[in-house]
Amino acid sequence: MSPPALRLPLSAGARWTILALLLVLAGVLGYPPWRLAALEKEALSPDPAVSRAAVYAMSSFGSPAAVDGLCHAFRESGDAETRELARTFILLQTRMLPSYGPPRRPPPHLEPTFELEGRFLLLLDGNIEQGLRATLEAFLAARMRLPVESEASPLSFTGLPRIDGGATNAETMLDLTAQHVRGEHGRLLLVTDRELARPGRAWVAGVGHGFGAAAVVSTAGLERGAAGGDAAVASRRLFRAALQALGHTLLHTDQNCRRPGCAMFRVERVEDLDGLGDDYCPVCHTLAEAELKHLQPPGH
Ligand SMILES: [Zn+2]
Repeated sequence: MSPPALRLPLSAGARWTILALLLVLAGVLGYPPWRLAALEKEALSPDPAVSRAAVYAMSSFGSPAAVDGLCHAFRESGDAETRELARTFILLQTRMLPSYGPPRRPPPHLEPTFELEGRFLLLLDGNIEQGLRATLEAFLAARMRLPVESEASPLSFTGLPRIDGGATNAETMLDLTAQHVRGEHGRLLLVTDRELARPGRAWVAGVGHGFGAAAVVSTAGLERGAAGGDAAVASRRLFRAALQALGHTLLHTDQNCRRPGCAMFRVERVEDLDGLGDDYCPVCHTLAEAELKHLQPPGH
C-alpha cells in the first residue's frame, strides 16, 4: 500500500499566486529601494574605492531607478573613474553598448585639416538650401551651446562606393571626412545633398560613431511624404537627424536608444524622424550634456 500523497488544501491558482508573491518578495529583499538610496549616497563618497563599489552594486539592480542612480553618480561624483564606470553601466543597462578602444581607423590627418577646438563646424557638400543651412546653424548653436560655423566643403567625394549602385555609402564618406579632423573639443558635421545608405540599409538620414568627432547627415529627400514638401518638416527632420548622428559621438556609442521619443531612437525611414522627440531622453541627455560641458572652451 503506497503512502497517501501530501496535498495542500489549495487550488492550483492559489498556489501560483503564493509562488509569484514569494518571487516578488525575494526580488524586493535582494534589491530593496532603501539599499539603492544608500548606494546613491555611497557613489558620491570621497573614497574612490567606496564610490566605485557602489556604482558596481547599483549596476546589478537592473531597474530604471538604478539607471537614474547611475546617472546621478555620473553627474555628481568627484572621481573621474567612478564617473566613467557609471557611464559604461548606464550604456550597458540601457542596452546601448559603449564603444571601446581607439577609432577603427586612426585619422592619418589628410590635408586640408579642420581644427575643431571649441566649435561646431558644418561642412556643406553640394547644394544645401540657404534657409535650411541657416536654421540648422541656429538650432545647433542653441542646443550645443558652442559657436557654429559653416563653410563649403573642399573635400572631394567623387568615386566613393555606392550601395547597390545607388546611394553613397555614408560610412565611407564619414571615414574620409574624419581623416581631415584635428582636435576633439568640438564636432564636425558634414551636411550633404547626396542620398545616403550603408551596407545592409538602403537609406540612412546620417551616420555617426561612438568614437571620433565627425558625423554626416543628408538633406536628400527630407521633404518626402510631407504635405506640399513643407520646408518646416524638412528642417525638423534635419535637426533630428543631426541630433542623432552627433549624439553617437557625444554618448560614445554606436547603438540606438530604446526609449521611444528619444532623438537617439532607431530610424528606418525618413518618416520615422517625425516620431522622434526634439531632444534626447533624460538618460541620453545626461550623457550628452556631460560631453558638451567637456567641449566648452576653458572659462565657460
Ligand atoms: Zn535616449
